[in-house]
Amino acid sequence: MLELQQVSLEIDGKSGVEILKDINLKFHEKKIYVVTGPNGGGKSSLAKIIMGVYNPTSGKILLDGQEITELNITERARRGIGYAFQSPPRFKGIKVKELLKMAASHNPDNVNICDLLYDVGLCAQDYLNRDVDASLSGGEMKRIEIATVLARNLKIAVFDEPEAGIDLWSFQKLAETFKNIHTKYDTTIVIISHQERIMELADEIILMSNGTISAQSERDTILAGILNNDACMCSTKCAKG
Ligand code: ADP
Ligand code: MG
Ligand code: MG
Repeated sequence: MLELQQVSLEIDGKSGVEILKDINLKFHEKKIYVVTGPNGGGKSSLAKIIMGVYNPTSGKILLDGQEITELNITERARRGIGYAFQSPPRFKGIKVKELLKMAASHNPDNVNICDLLYDVGLCAQDYLNRDVDASLSGGEMKRIEIATVLARNLKIAVFDEPEAGIDLWSFQKLAETFKNIHTKYDTTIVIISHQERIMELADEIILMSNGTISAQSERDTILAGILNNDACMCSTKCAKG
Protein backbone atom coordinates (compact mmCIF):
# COMPACT_ATOMS: atom_id res chain seq x y z
CA MET A 1 0.00 0.00 0.00
CA LEU A 2 2.51 2.64 1.19
CA GLU A 3 6.12 1.88 0.45
CA LEU A 4 9.38 3.68 1.26
CA GLN A 5 12.37 2.68 -0.87
CA GLN A 6 15.88 3.66 0.21
CA VAL A 7 14.60 6.90 1.73
CA SER A 8 17.21 9.24 3.21
CA LEU A 9 16.75 12.70 4.71
CA GLU A 10 19.23 15.48 5.39
CA ILE A 11 17.94 18.71 6.85
CA ASP A 12 19.28 22.07 5.62
CA GLY A 13 21.68 23.66 8.02
CA LYS A 14 22.63 20.23 9.28
CA SER A 15 24.22 19.24 6.00
CA GLY A 16 26.02 15.94 5.99
CA VAL A 17 23.92 14.83 8.93
CA GLU A 18 21.40 12.26 7.83
CA ILE A 19 18.28 12.18 9.99
CA LEU A 20 16.95 9.17 8.08
CA LYS A 21 19.28 6.68 6.40
CA ASP A 22 18.21 4.31 3.62
CA ILE A 23 14.82 3.47 5.09
CA ASN A 24 12.96 0.59 3.43
CA LEU A 25 9.43 0.02 4.72
CA LYS A 26 6.16 -1.43 3.48
CA PHE A 27 2.85 -0.64 5.14
CA HIS A 28 0.00 -2.94 4.21
CA GLU A 29 -3.72 -2.30 4.11
CA LYS A 30 -5.79 -2.64 7.28
CA LYS A 31 -2.80 -3.17 9.56
CA ILE A 32 -1.74 -1.33 12.67
CA TYR A 33 1.94 -0.46 12.96
CA VAL A 34 3.59 0.96 16.04
CA VAL A 35 6.88 2.81 15.57
CA THR A 36 8.93 3.07 18.73
CA GLY A 37 12.50 3.73 19.88
CA PRO A 38 14.61 6.35 21.65
CA ASN A 39 14.04 10.11 21.42
CA GLY A 40 15.83 11.63 18.45
CA GLY A 41 15.75 8.30 16.61
CA GLY A 42 13.91 9.77 13.62
CA LYS A 43 10.29 8.70 14.29
CA SER A 44 8.69 12.12 13.79
CA SER A 45 10.88 12.72 10.73
CA LEU A 46 9.63 9.44 9.27
CA ALA A 47 6.03 10.60 9.84
CA LYS A 48 6.79 13.95 8.19
CA ILE A 49 8.37 12.20 5.20
CA ILE A 50 5.19 10.13 4.80
CA MET A 51 2.97 13.23 5.04
CA GLY A 52 5.16 15.36 2.75
CA VAL A 53 6.15 17.90 5.41
CA TYR A 54 9.71 16.90 4.47
CA ASN A 55 10.73 15.59 1.07
CA PRO A 56 13.45 12.94 1.02
CA THR A 57 17.00 13.81 -0.06
CA SER A 58 17.04 10.51 -1.91
CA GLY A 59 14.81 7.48 -2.33
CA LYS A 60 11.20 6.94 -3.39
CA ILE A 61 7.77 6.87 -1.77
CA LEU A 62 4.97 4.92 -3.44
CA LEU A 63 1.25 4.86 -2.64
CA ASP A 64 -0.63 1.96 -4.25
CA GLY A 65 2.25 1.57 -6.69
CA GLN A 66 2.25 5.26 -7.75
CA GLU A 67 5.19 7.46 -6.94
CA ILE A 68 4.29 10.32 -4.59
CA THR A 69 7.84 11.35 -3.60
CA GLU A 70 7.51 14.90 -4.98
CA LEU A 71 3.91 15.55 -3.86
CA ASN A 72 3.29 18.17 -1.18
CA ILE A 73 1.16 17.86 1.96
CA THR A 74 -2.09 18.98 0.28
CA GLU A 75 -1.70 16.56 -2.61
CA ARG A 76 -0.92 13.70 -0.27
CA ALA A 77 -3.88 14.59 1.96
CA ARG A 78 -6.10 14.46 -1.12
CA ARG A 79 -4.83 10.93 -1.79
CA GLY A 80 -5.78 9.81 1.69
CA ILE A 81 -2.72 10.32 3.86
CA GLY A 82 -3.21 11.98 7.24
CA TYR A 83 -0.93 12.93 10.11
CA ALA A 84 -1.60 14.01 13.68
CA PHE A 85 1.44 16.04 14.77
CA GLN A 86 3.37 15.43 17.98
CA SER A 87 2.77 19.14 18.75
CA PRO A 88 -0.43 20.13 16.94
CA PRO A 89 -0.76 23.63 15.45
CA ARG A 90 -3.44 25.97 16.84
CA PHE A 91 -5.66 28.19 14.73
CA LYS A 92 -6.93 31.59 15.78
CA GLY A 93 -10.58 32.45 15.11
CA ILE A 94 -11.88 28.95 14.50
CA LYS A 95 -14.10 26.86 16.76
CA VAL A 96 -13.66 23.17 17.51
CA LYS A 97 -16.93 22.30 15.74
CA GLU A 98 -15.85 24.20 12.59
CA LEU A 99 -12.48 22.46 12.53
CA LEU A 100 -14.12 19.02 12.85
CA LYS A 101 -16.79 19.81 10.23
CA MET A 102 -14.08 20.84 7.79
CA ALA A 103 -12.15 17.66 8.45
CA ALA A 104 -15.26 15.50 7.95
CA SER A 105 -16.45 17.35 4.84
CA HIS A 106 -14.87 14.92 2.37
CA ASN A 107 -15.89 11.82 4.25
CA PRO A 108 -18.78 10.14 2.43
CA ASP A 109 -19.93 8.62 5.71
CA ASN A 110 -21.92 11.01 7.81
CA VAL A 111 -19.66 11.35 10.77
CA ASN A 112 -21.13 12.76 13.92
CA ILE A 113 -18.71 15.29 15.38
CA CYS A 114 -20.04 14.75 18.90
CA ASP A 115 -19.19 11.05 18.62
CA LEU A 116 -15.74 11.97 17.35
CA LEU A 117 -15.06 14.04 20.45
CA TYR A 118 -16.35 11.25 22.65
CA ASP A 119 -14.02 8.81 20.86
CA VAL A 120 -11.03 10.85 21.97
CA GLY A 121 -12.32 11.23 25.52
CA LEU A 122 -13.78 14.75 25.33
CA CYS A 123 -17.33 15.81 26.21
CA ALA A 124 -18.82 17.47 23.10
CA GLN A 125 -20.93 19.96 25.08
CA ASP A 126 -17.83 21.39 26.71
CA TYR A 127 -15.75 21.67 23.56
CA LEU A 128 -17.81 22.29 20.40
CA ASN A 129 -17.85 26.06 20.84
CA ARG A 130 -14.35 26.45 22.21
CA ASP A 131 -11.77 28.30 20.11
CA VAL A 132 -8.88 26.23 18.77
CA ASP A 133 -6.33 28.50 20.41
CA ALA A 134 -4.00 28.72 23.38
CA SER A 135 -6.92 28.39 25.81
CA LEU A 136 -6.90 24.62 25.13
CA SER A 137 -4.43 22.57 27.13
CA GLY A 138 -1.81 20.51 25.31
CA GLY A 139 -3.71 17.27 25.94
CA GLU A 140 -7.03 18.77 24.80
CA MET A 141 -5.45 20.14 21.63
CA LYS A 142 -3.82 16.82 20.97
CA ARG A 143 -7.13 14.95 21.28
CA ILE A 144 -8.94 17.43 19.05
CA GLU A 145 -6.30 16.97 16.39
CA ILE A 146 -6.60 13.19 16.64
CA ALA A 147 -10.38 13.66 16.17
CA THR A 148 -9.77 15.62 12.95
CA VAL A 149 -7.71 12.73 11.58
CA LEU A 150 -10.36 10.20 12.66
CA ALA A 151 -12.99 12.31 10.83
CA ARG A 152 -11.38 11.86 7.45
CA ASN A 153 -11.73 8.19 6.36
CA LEU A 154 -8.11 7.89 5.26
CA LYS A 155 -6.02 5.28 3.49
CA ILE A 156 -3.22 5.76 5.96
CA ALA A 157 -3.24 7.72 9.20
CA VAL A 158 -0.11 8.51 11.19
CA PHE A 159 -0.42 9.48 14.87
CA ASP A 160 2.68 10.94 16.50
CA GLU A 161 2.82 10.09 20.22
CA PRO A 162 -0.96 10.37 20.75
CA GLU A 163 -0.51 9.56 24.44
CA ALA A 164 1.36 12.79 25.24
CA GLY A 165 -0.50 14.87 27.81
CA ILE A 166 -3.48 12.52 27.91
CA ASP A 167 -4.87 11.20 31.19
CA LEU A 168 -5.34 7.51 31.78
CA TRP A 169 -9.10 7.35 31.25
CA SER A 170 -8.99 9.16 27.91
CA PHE A 171 -6.03 7.04 26.99
CA GLN A 172 -8.00 3.80 27.34
CA LYS A 173 -10.77 5.36 25.28
CA LEU A 174 -8.26 6.37 22.63
CA ALA A 175 -6.76 2.89 22.41
CA GLU A 176 -10.26 1.48 21.83
CA THR A 177 -10.87 4.15 19.21
CA PHE A 178 -7.77 3.17 17.25
CA LYS A 179 -9.00 -0.39 17.24
CA ASN A 180 -12.48 0.67 16.06
CA ILE A 181 -11.43 2.99 13.24
CA HIS A 182 -9.30 0.13 12.04
CA THR A 183 -12.27 -2.20 11.73
CA LYS A 184 -14.74 0.48 10.60
CA TYR A 185 -12.63 1.77 7.71
CA ASP A 186 -9.82 -0.07 5.93
CA THR A 187 -7.37 2.52 7.19
CA THR A 188 -3.75 1.54 7.74
CA ILE A 189 -2.69 3.00 11.06
CA VAL A 190 0.82 4.01 12.03
CA ILE A 191 1.20 5.05 15.67
CA ILE A 192 4.42 6.45 17.04
CA SER A 193 4.36 5.55 20.70
CA HIS A 194 6.27 4.46 23.77
CA GLN A 195 3.19 3.01 25.47
CA GLU A 196 2.82 -0.70 26.05
CA ARG A 197 -0.98 -0.35 25.87
CA ILE A 198 -0.60 1.03 22.33
CA MET A 199 2.02 -1.53 21.32
CA GLU A 200 -0.51 -4.23 22.24
CA LEU A 201 -2.73 -2.97 19.40
CA ALA A 202 0.01 -3.46 16.80
CA ASP A 203 0.15 -6.10 14.12
CA GLU A 204 3.77 -5.13 13.64
CA ILE A 205 6.25 -3.09 15.65
CA ILE A 206 9.01 -1.05 14.01
CA LEU A 207 12.01 -0.08 16.14
CA MET A 208 13.89 3.07 15.06
CA SER A 209 17.17 4.43 16.32
CA ASN A 210 19.80 6.75 14.85
CA GLY A 211 17.73 7.29 11.73
CA THR A 212 17.50 3.63 10.80
CA ILE A 213 15.09 0.74 11.29
CA SER A 214 16.81 -1.45 13.86
CA ALA A 215 14.08 -4.08 13.90
CA GLN A 216 10.67 -4.74 12.36
CA SER A 217 8.59 -7.75 13.24
CA GLU A 218 5.31 -9.07 14.55
CA ARG A 219 4.35 -7.55 17.87
CA ASP A 220 5.09 -10.51 20.11
CA THR A 221 8.53 -11.13 18.63
CA ILE A 222 9.56 -7.50 19.19
CA LEU A 223 8.06 -7.29 22.69
CA ALA A 224 9.88 -10.48 23.67
CA GLY A 225 13.08 -9.00 22.23
CA ILE A 226 12.67 -5.79 24.24
CA LEU A 227 12.07 -7.77 27.42
CA ASN A 228 15.12 -9.96 26.79
CA ASN A 229 17.09 -6.83 25.96
CA ASP A 230 18.50 -8.24 22.73
CA ALA A 231 16.85 -5.41 20.84
CA CYS A 232 17.99 -2.64 23.16
CA MET A 233 16.00 0.58 22.80
CA CYS A 234 18.78 2.79 24.14
CA SER A 235 20.61 4.77 21.47
CA THR A 236 23.71 4.99 23.63
CA LYS A 237 24.93 2.29 25.96
CA CYS A 238 22.50 1.84 28.81
CA ALA A 239 23.42 1.41 32.45
CA LYS A 240 23.64 -2.33 31.95
CA GLY A 241 26.62 -1.71 29.63
P1 ADP B 1 12.01 11.29 17.29
O1 ADP B 1 10.65 11.66 16.83
O2 ADP B 1 12.33 9.84 17.13
O3 ADP B 1 12.28 11.75 18.69
P2 ADP B 1 12.90 13.21 15.31
O4 ADP B 1 12.52 12.67 13.99
O5 ADP B 1 12.07 14.30 15.88
O6 ADP B 1 13.08 12.02 16.34
O7 ADP B 1 14.39 13.77 15.20
C1 ADP B 1 15.47 12.99 14.70
C2 ADP B 1 16.72 13.84 14.67
O8 ADP B 1 16.62 14.82 13.65
C3 ADP B 1 16.98 14.61 15.96
O9 ADP B 1 18.35 14.63 16.18
C4 ADP B 1 16.44 15.99 15.64
O10 ADP B 1 17.11 16.98 16.39
C5 ADP B 1 16.76 16.12 14.16
N1 ADP B 1 15.83 17.00 13.44
C6 ADP B 1 14.52 16.74 13.18
N2 ADP B 1 13.95 17.75 12.49
C7 ADP B 1 14.95 18.66 12.31
C8 ADP B 1 15.00 19.96 11.67
N3 ADP B 1 13.94 20.50 11.08
N4 ADP B 1 16.21 20.61 11.68
C9 ADP B 1 17.29 20.06 12.26
N5 ADP B 1 17.29 18.88 12.87
C10 ADP B 1 16.14 18.18 12.91
MG1 MG C 1 10.60 12.36 20.42
MG1 MG D 1 9.06 12.55 17.72
